[in-house]
Amino acid sequence: MAKLDYIKEAVIKRNPNDVEFIQAVDEVLLSLEKVAEKHPEYIKKGVFERIVEPERQIIFRVPWVDDQGKLQVNRGYRIEFNSAIGPYKGGLRFHPSVNISIIKFLGFEQIFKNSLTGLPIGGGKGGSDFDPKGKSDAEVMRFCQSFMTELCKYIGPNTDVPAGDIGVGAREIGYMFGQYKRIRNEFCGVLTGKGLKWGGSLVRTEATGYGLCYFTEAMLQDKGNSFKGKKVVISGSGNVAIYAAEKATMLGAKVIAMSDSSGYIIDENGINLDVMKEIKEVRRGRISEYAKSVKGSVFHKDGRIWNTPCDIALPCATQNELNKEDAETLIKNGVIAVCEGANMPTTPDAIDVLMQNHILFAPGKASNAGGVATSALEMSQNSLRLSWTAEEVDARLKDIMENIYKTVSETAKEYDAPDNFMVGANIAGFIKVADSMIEQGI
Ligand code: GLU
Repeated sequence: MAKLDYIKEAVIKRNPNDVEFIQAVDEVLLSLEKVAEKHPEYIKKGVFERIVEPERQIIFRVPWVDDQGKLQVNRGYRIEFNSAIGPYKGGLRFHPSVNISIIKFLGFEQIFKNSLTGLPIGGGKGGSDFDPKGKSDAEVMRFCQSFMTELCKYIGPNTDVPAGDIGVGAREIGYMFGQYKRIRNEFCGVLTGKGLKWGGSLVRTEATGYGLCYFTEAMLQDKGNSFKGKKVVISGSGNVAIYAAEKATMLGAKVIAMSDSSGYIIDENGINLDVMKEIKEVRRGRISEYAKSVKGSVFHKDGRIWNTPCDIALPCATQNELNKEDAETLIKNGVIAVCEGANMPTTPDAIDVLMQNHILFAPGKASNAGGVATSALEMSQNSLRLSWTAEEVDARLKDIMENIYKTVSETAKEYDAPDNFMVGANIAGFIKVADSMIEQGI
């Protein structure tokens, strides 16, 4: 029996239906077995019991009126998971699949991710089962205003600072910021991912995707390799995927496939990002439109994007989107690295297969930390009441991602798991938070 099994059992007992949350906890606890052996004080001081239980869970009703005048009700969430090293920080996800398990898993991951950035931010996450897809702009605004009318009671620039995630971009952040200001009569850095004219940071939009590529490039270079000349497949076509594609291309790779929930496109000439941005960012359209605009590209309604042979796979869509079979196919087709842009996109058995075959695997809580890191840089700029240039923010982001790689890789070595960056990330992220919790008492 493993040393930390009793913690897992307690989590299952307390959250029996929360499959994604249990999956995320299980992965972290497995990585922490050696830490528990080496540092009995963490067990003695009850750090494990405490870190798996959110400090606060807020669930609320979000009533709003649609364009037909009909009342709609959604459910809102904010999980304030851990504030040992800073104010709660993490995105808001608006998607019909959102439930308490998904928000808890995301909030839990955020604790370790935020710790790895080296910046003073705790872990939190929120969202709603509201589906922005197909809603008018006015409906999205009314929903965001109602959501913030309740959420504003619990957040603040020194307490809890939400940002975007799936379904929450600049538009939604704008409507929520406007409502916060109206209610609290305070212009402050209570949200990140703000518009550039009213307190947002340059490079925040690009940061998760760019950061993913900075991490991946650092990892590849450490192994005597690089993005140059590589074929890359990226799932998703949101913020993370688009800017990962942009940076990978800048670093000399060719991105040949991207997707959305309706299917995927293959463009062996390399994805034309101007066309992709026009479809996805301006028109909010479907990815099939790409194949209609770009000669030589093909749209696949069915099938798996991971069947596309490539050197580097960047899952940037959502949780559990790359399974064991996909991992086996990627390996058969010669993949050298799988780096997560989304949160927990690779299933546990797929990770096992990748590791057993010595494929480089970058876990999201390390490789996608560039978004939240740049959010923390936005908080710094808001506190200072000034804005840094794009060059300055980008240089800091690159530095942060290279440092995360170094930390994760050195920690993995220290705990006899060289090149297991998942173990390295979980341990390095944990230790800083655990020590802070002990120092602050129960
Ligand atoms: N939603 C992003 C993440 O998963 C960013 C969170 C933030 O900027 O606070 O890390």
